[in-house]
Amino acid sequence: MSEMKTRSHKAQKVLERMGQKLNRQIVGSLVGCVHCGMCTESCHYVLANPGDPTYAPAYKADRIRKLFKRHFDWTGRVFPWWVKAGSVYTDEELEELKDIVFGKCTNCRRCTINCPMGVDFAVFNRMARGLLVSVGVMPEGVAVVSKDQWEVGNQMGVLKEEYLDTLEWMAEELQDELEDPSVSIPIDQTDCDVVYTINPREVKYDPRSISDAAKIFHAAGENWTMPSECWDMTNFGLFSGDDALGGSVARRLYEKVIELRGKRLVISECGHGYRSTRCEGPNWAKFNVPFVMESSVDTMIRYIKEGRIKVDKTRNTVPVTFHDSCNNARSCGLFEGPRELLNLVVTDFQEMHPNRAENYCCTGGGGAMSMSEYTPQRLKSAVIKADQLKATGAKTVVTSCHNCVDGLADLIRHYKLGMEVTQLVNLVANALVIEEKVAVPAEEVAVPVEAAAVPAEVMAAPPAEVAVPAKEVPVTTSVGEPEGLPLAGLKLVVADDEPDQLEFLATVFEDNGATVVRATDGDEALAAVRSEKPDLLTLDLEMPGLDVGDVFETLRKDPEFESLGVCIITGRPELRKLIYDRSVRIPEGYLDKPVTEEALVRTVRKILEVPRQA
Ligand code: SF4
Ligand code: SF4
Repeated sequence: MSEMKTRSHKAQKVLERMGQKLNRQIVGSLVGCVHCGMCTESCHYVLANPGDPTYAPAYKADRIRKLFKRHFDWTGRVFPWWVKAGSVYTDEELEELKDIVFGKCTNCRRCTINCPMGVDFAVFNRMARGLLVSVGVMPEGVAVVSKDQWEVGNQMGVLKEEYLDTLEWMAEELQDELEDPSVSIPIDQTDCDVVYTINPREVKYDPRSISDAAKIFHAAGENWTMPSECWDMTNFGLFSGDDALGGSVARRLYEKVIELRGKRLVISECGHGYRSTRCEGPNWAKFNVPFVMESSVDTMIRYIKEGRIKVDKTRNTVPVTFHDSCNNARSCGLFEGPRELLNLVVTDFQEMHPNRAENYCCTGGGGAMSMSEYTPQRLKSAVIKADQLKATGAKTVVTSCHNCVDGLADLIRHYKLGMEVTQLVNLVANALVIEEKVAVPAEEVAVPVEAAAVPAEVMAAPPAEVAVPAKEVPVTTSVGEPEGLPLAGLKLVVADDEPDQLEFLATVFEDNGATVVRATDGDEALAAVRSEKPDLLTLDLEMPGLDVGDVFETLRKDPEFESLGVCIITGRPELRKLIYDRSVRIPEGYLDKPVTEEALVRTVRKILEVPRQA
């Protein structure tokens, strides 16, 4: 009988287009549910609305599932009453479906990881959103943002002049801050190692995150650029379910990087931007991406590990907690990187619980911040997140996602939590120890003939407040390099329990002019530093004798050696916690084995040229 009912044009189109959207992943989730209810308690909407079954993931999923069963599943087509199959006929029914798929789910995927059958509700909820968008049934905010991204090229309708003006303004701010007129934010430079792409929210509301990133690239000596066009790494296609928009946005960015001949695309901290650009975009755009793509979180960790930037965690002492963005963490597996970085740049980090893949959504995900008609129910569901934040006792919540910044700030205001929200780029920039290049007066560079040489660019006179290393590093100019060896005149203690490694490291340093004292365990390393008073210590993380972490901490707390440069050289990066979790300044350098001669020499020189603060 019901099939005789008239179906609206829009409803007809939705059903026709559904058939084109079905794939193995979606159908697997549509047929896999056994209605066990395991996912129910995983949804923040359910927890915030006890007694209302319409928020349960399986209930919401069944609103979409019944269409599949009625029109595509064999059993449902023959015995619709048996499997609760049903159809859609009117525009009013489409509106009701819209309120479920946009208003009662942030596509956070927390229910997905709690489903024993592997049902990924978010994947077909997104499909339903896309079907509704294709017939013009969507929240007004979704229409506006999609239009801006299609027509202007970015989600917030930022015009090119506004974008370029903001970059110029931020470059000027940075020049003032660093008192260095040579600092810039390069635009459209070709053949760069890094092309940096951002969220338009940074231009509109948070330009400081752009200057902070520029400060880090500058300190790292990076060869980088930002595109003048096609610079938006966010992608509303992920939220609206519009694969055509998703593919178009991603393709524009990929082609721009290729046009600039960039070697690596670094994506600023944004969960959905990272997921769209790095994970989903190549499929939406059907594009073979020929360059590396990485989160700026990984870039910043790399800079610290390679000794390209120095950080001082004691500059960030306010207690912080970390919020995992659903897209970064659950969908892309970025769990440990942000924590590793946090522990390098703050002194007091407390986990919130649950965390990582089990963390609750900020409630602003899935484009929810743009759908004002659902704000009351969004903020009601945010009580779960608010309770989670409150329990940490932290004053600041850190997140690697601009969307989460807005979602969290909104609920913090609503629930009067009195917390700040910030991102890792801000904390890293604040912890940066910027090298001050101070010209060495000519009379001070005269070096005794027997003194060994360090090339001129290494020699920056330390500012007055910087503790002077136990042993002065000899200085010279290029004119006065009697031996021309980059490490000449330096004394190093090299600690490694593997004879081959120890010999390799020692030989490299000696060949480059250094005097080397060898140590094969923790006790020897400590004793050698105390008796030899070297310029620098290299430490393997796994050695017999005194615990390496204790060696490191003992030296850091000893006024005579607190300024000693330390470089970790390890084949066991997972042991970094031994050192980096200590409540003392982190090592000045870090290298993973196997290590090259060039990296060893460059790192030692870099450590000794940067003023060290006790
Ligand atoms: S946990 Fe999975 S199988 Fe169980 S009701 Fe939820 S979606 Fe269905
Ligand atoms: S994806 Fe998230 S918001 Fe949506 S039903 Fe699942 S747990 Fe709830």
